[in-house]
Amino acid sequence: MYGVVTLSLKITNWCNLNCAHCCECSGAHNPTNFMPLTRAEQYIGEFQDVPYHIMQHYTISGGEGLAPYQFGNPDYIPTILSCIYKIDGIPTIKTNGVWGEKYNMRAETLKSLAKSAYLGNKLLTLDISVDEFHNNLTGVANIIADVVQSDYLLPAIRICLLGFNTAGTKLAMDNLRQKLEDREIHSETLQNNDWGVYRNDDKGMRVVVGAEHEVHNLGRAKQNNVYTATGDPAGSYVNCLQVDNNNLAILNYLYAEQIAGRNLTNVMNSLVMRMSQDGK
Ligand code: SF4
Repeated sequence: MYGVVTLSLKITNWCNLNCAHCCECSGAHNPTNFMPLTRAEQYIGEFQDVPYHIMQHYTISGGEGLAPYQFGNPDYIPTILSCIYKIDGIPTIKTNGVWGEKYNMRAETLKSLAKSAYLGNKLLTLDISVDEFHNNLTGVANIIADVVQSDYLLPAIRICLLGFNTAGTKLAMDNLRQKLEDREIHSETLQNNDWGVYRNDDKGMRVVVGAEHEVHNLGRAKQNNVYTATGDPAGSYVNCLQVDNNNLAILNYLYAEQIAGRNLTNVMNSLVMRMSQDGK
């Protein structure tokens, strides 16, 4: 297998949205069925022994990666984060950011995430989708504004906006900038199309903007394909091993096997063998 491999923990297939293009077939109709914390810790531990070039970069995803906060379980994400920090990992959480519309939820979630980042002494990244498919700009603008305006949150939380190379994504990004301006958060375009976002005293942060991918696949709109992706992960330098809340391991969104009764090295070897048999 060429390149490095990262671990993604898909903790739930529940999501408050039901996007037509969802690669994960997630939605509000799915039970939350959160991955047991003992299993999340086990996967992170076993990943250290996988005989490939692992990248100490861990993603918590879904569905909605921050759903536990919305279901009254504020200790769930901090427990996984502390496990990632313990092995010197770098965490990213994928979220649609709609929870940012509610003041209390936003305040509780951001404070909790920042506390974990301080305890782990490493930045925590929120990957937030901003494109033509998500109706989330108000929540996302509130989240960015709260982080930039808080001396406590600002050093702890980094934000990455993910979209596509489409006119719809560009419009969504422009609208988001306008919403930030309405909240007295000024922005400028930096190198690589990232944004510098600043409050009135000029303190601020860099928001990473990733909007270079084409829409390769229409997710749930292509129901005959169980595992779909918006990029071409099998052709990438970075391989993704996803473990989900149903004990399934999926390599590069293409090859899946049950984990039950096996360790991640055993599962990974089998997945990689199948991938190389396909010439990838
Ligand atoms: S694309 Fe993201 S926000 Fe939309 S349904 Fe899927 S997981 Fe939820």
